[in-house]
Amino acid sequence: MGEHVFDSLHEECGVFGVYGVDNVSPIIYYGLHSLQHRGQEGCGIVCVDEKGNMSRQRGLGLVSEVFDEAKLASLKGRMGIGHVRYSTSGGGGLDNVQPFFFRHKSGDFALAHNGNLVNSRQLSDYLESRGSLFHSTSDSELLAHLIKKDGNEPRIFAIIDALNMLEGAFAFLIMTKNRIYACRDKYGLRPLSIGRLGDGYVVSSETCAFDVIGATFVRDIEPGEIVTIDDKGLRSNFYSKFQRRKMCAMEYIYFARPDSDIEGCNVHAYRKESGRRLFREAPADADIVIGVPDSSLSAAMGYSEASGIPYEMGLIKNKYVGRTFIQPSQELREKGVKMKLSAVHSIVNGKRIVLIDDSIVRGTTSRRIVEMLREAGAKEVHVRIASPAITHPCFYGVDISVYEELLCARRNKDEVRRIIGADSLEFLSLESALKSAPGRSEMCFACFTGDYPTALYQSLEEANKDGKF
Ligand code: SF4
Repeated sequence: MGEHVFDSLHEECGVFGVYGVDNVSPIIYYGLHSLQHRGQEGCGIVCVDEKGNMSRQRGLGLVSEVFDEAKLASLKGRMGIGHVRYSTSGGGGLDNVQPFFFRHKSGDFALAHNGNLVNSRQLSDYLESRGSLFHSTSDSELLAHLIKKDGNEPRIFAIIDALNMLEGAFAFLIMTKNRIYACRDKYGLRPLSIGRLGDGYVVSSETCAFDVIGATFVRDIEPGEIVTIDDKGLRSNFYSKFQRRKMCAMEYIYFARPDSDIEGCNVHAYRKESGRRLFREAPADADIVIGVPDSSLSAAMGYSEASGIPYEMGLIKNKYVGRTFIQPSQELREKGVKMKLSAVHSIVNGKRIVLIDDSIVRGTTSRRIVEMLREAGAKEVHVRIASPAITHPCFYGVDISVYEELLCARRNKDEVRRIIGADSLEFLSLESALKSAPGRSEMCFACFTGDYPTALYQSLEEANKDGKF
């Protein structure tokens, strides 16, 4: 599938917060920039100044497109939260770009969210029946209304009550004029980590943002935990006694940056190990190993290392395609203008190739890459997928929401192989997908197995619109 090439999975969002550091807005800017792979649709920052006033800047586009020095200078203070968004539930548009900002008689607050709730319809019905009005269609706004619903009770109890009404995957940052609350769902589906920066703290969806700003990793937020960060330091509360460790397997396989550590396991190391295991499970007789850039390169290195087949740079990705880039017309595409990925003719010509990809979603990416390699002269293309086949939709913030969109949902391996045009096709086993992260005993594998860790409400029927599953 590669990363954002033709048809790829998209993560919903990334969150980043800083507490207790002078002039936080440039730090949040750099933090969000290193989470850019988690969402390119829009981004925003809210800061609190010394007087407790909140200010916000947000927009559609990449972090580097939305913010300039003047905008960052307008965001004053020693505390702030930020967000990068890819729109799935709630749709696009500026209204849905976070962080959200709420005025309330008990004090203003801002909110940023990563993940997806599965009971949002039930919650919005409940809130509307109590008279709430919504500005956006986002899960974050639901949480804000739940926090506000009972007026003036102390904030932490209101948050605990509100989180207990949510079902699904989430990492929330909630900021008042005095503190930041960082919360993670009780299943542990989405990552959220704390770092130390000088005398202050940072919170991030991924640890790769810590290195960029010179912060050091402190710990991960636990499933079901609310960490309060204020002038007393860090305090911990759990909103639920139920606790699982169902980290989304696709974070390791595809979403997260290779330099991030997720719950103690480095993402590059995970992918490399999955590649080694993939070779042991599905060897191929070939001249070179190629990975689909960027997310499959680590697995390709592992496959090459275990097999002794040389790893080569047979595909090159142009990374600098922003939101405002003019996509080629059908006519130009037919003339061979390929925007994001090219095969390197001198490397692949005449070779038998093992092509490592992290996953197959709709299959159009894999088909076009195999085609591209053959056009560049490849003799054979053996596709090896560094994850099990995706056969079920995800309801936790990843945009595979209907069975129809999944190539592997209705087809056996040979049918899929024929559609993508490969000489052979194999997938990594579930066991190896788990064991590539040393010491883990569970993960969310629902899109491979259909075994969803949460209740689903109406989601499954909606995913099966044509009634064939
Ligand atoms: S269903 Fe798949 S993509 Fe969704 S959270 Fe679980 S592992 Fe991740």
